[in-house]
Amino acid sequence: MLALYRKYRPETFGALIGQAHTKEILQAEVAHNQVAHAYLFVGPRGTGKTSTARILAAAINCEKQKGGEPCTVCAHCKAIREGRYLDLIEIDAASQTGVDNVRENIIESARFVPQVGKWKTYLIDEAHMLSSAAWNALLKTLEEPPERVMFIFATTEPRKIPDTILSRCQQFRFTPVEFEVLKARLTFIAQEEGVVVEKKVLSEIALRAGGYIRDAESLLGQVLSLGGKKVSWKDAEGILGHTAIDVVQGLMACVVKGAAGDAVEKLEELREEGVDLYQLPGHALDLLRAMHYHALTDRDHPLLVKRYGSEGIAAVAALLAVNADAAVLRRALTALVERQAAAHELPPDLFLEIILSELAEIFSEGQSAPGHSSPVIATPPERRKQSDAMRHPEPVEGSLHSSRDDTGKRLPRRSGGVGIPRNGLRTKTVPTASEPAEEEKPAPKNKLTLQLQAIKDVWGAFVDKVHIRNRALQFILRTAEPLRVNENRVHLGVHYQFHLEKLGEANNRKIIEDVLAELLGGPVIVQLELLKNEAVEPAASAAEEDPSVLQLMNLFGGKVVES
Ligand SMILES: [Zn+2]
Repeated sequence: MLALYRKYRPETFGALIGQAHTKEILQAEVAHNQVAHAYLFVGPRGTGKTSTARILAAAINCEKQKGGEPCTVCAHCKAIREGRYLDLIEIDAASQTGVDNVRENIIESARFVPQVGKWKTYLIDEAHMLSSAAWNALLKTLEEPPERVMFIFATTEPRKIPDTILSRCQQFRFTPVEFEVLKARLTFIAQEEGVVVEKKVLSEIALRAGGYIRDAESLLGQVLSLGGKKVSWKDAEGILGHTAIDVVQGLMACVVKGAAGDAVEKLEELREEGVDLYQLPGHALDLLRAMHYHALTDRDHPLLVKRYGSEGIAAVAALLAVNADAAVLRRALTALVERQAAAHELPPDLFLEIILSELAEIFSEGQSAPGHSSPVIATPPERRKQSDAMRHPEPVEGSLHSSRDDTGKRLPRRSGGVGIPRNGLRTKTVPTASEPAEEEKPAPKNKLTLQLQAIKDVWGAFVDKVHIRNRALQFILRTAEPLRVNENRVHLGVHYQFHLEKLGEANNRKIIEDVLAELLGGPVIVQLELLKNEAVEPAASAAEEDPSVLQLMNLFGGKVVES
């Protein structure tokens, strides 16, 4: 396997990936001859702490340092690159934690002047592993550091570093790299290696790596070792398997429907296929967070952009458009956060089985919780299964059911509570069927008798209003047409199967029916119909060229289906 991490190890501050703030300051310190005697680099593994330390060591010893950057070609730079520089002493504290080792290897030798360079640098990795006796011994040296001696401590756990040490170090935080930056890095390396790698592969690697350069480069190394000058998704699939985002999206789609059974069945399939389940709780958490944020602000969470890039967002847009109640999402989020502490104590499939069914239960309860404008009767399991099926409309005629008896997602109620006691006990309230529905608007009196023209008159306002609740829906509705009305039943024609399916989803249908009811002054039932395309050659190509369809596909991550 290609050791890309070593091969492409950055040798200048400019070549470091991410960490813009850190490298800018360090470079300036070198340029102005103002480096400190002790640094603490804090951050997760694989974010560039040791690379940065080596660049810093090179820069302060380089013969031709310019503007704070090492030249990379002089004897000092070369020796550092090759790991044989006498004045850069790298110590892995995980293996030398004792006070004797520290005395011998650091404190004693620090008293001697640099052998070949201007500075003697001690890079102490995993510094949190040093014993407190070792730190105490070190403290004296740090209090009165010998001239031309620099300590660089690198750690993933700064809380384990004594305060007395912390206060004597200049600290820098290393953070995971953003998705797009990581992807650009992978693209660069693939190019350097002379291999054309399909974008989807690079995106998936960047996503899997979760912001860690070393992980990303090692995964890319595996993919490139397949050989050949071209790597397609099909080639890489053996290594990468499913895309992580598809997997988590599939599971969460079951969860938000309250379908715990479907979720655990799907999970079992994934486990049998050998999908790596370790990252899923983290992705699920990201998604729930984004959905919660979306429910409150109608915007994509900035964190999503950083971790998943625009492609990732497009892939999960259907989930974001679910419009679950913010309070329900918050409960799901809390449950996952609370459980996550125990995640590493259980096998990942068991952990996921528990948390997914728990989340599904929260969503299912959220759908039937009192406090919503339309209480629903708590659905017994067999009925729930049935209504699950109802939420997948038949290909041609969208299924029709009153929004009152479905267990589909409720509309966002930004101000409304959910009626769940704060003490954490969830009580299932079962409103009786005869209990009148509590509506925000005055209750509708009689069935409306509508005219087609009335629908057409409010169509523009209707699309605008829907947009406020769900920005993705408006794209479909712009191309949809009111066809005819029958009392309070409105027949809407759509041009594509994909549109039909999206509008037929219970929560989307509810939005449409609610907004129309609001504009028309009474309850409305929407009937969906797939229009026969009037063009001679109606197929996918025409649909794919339609800008609104393209935009929509980007949002929902769909594809045009010929019908
Ligand atoms: Zn140099």
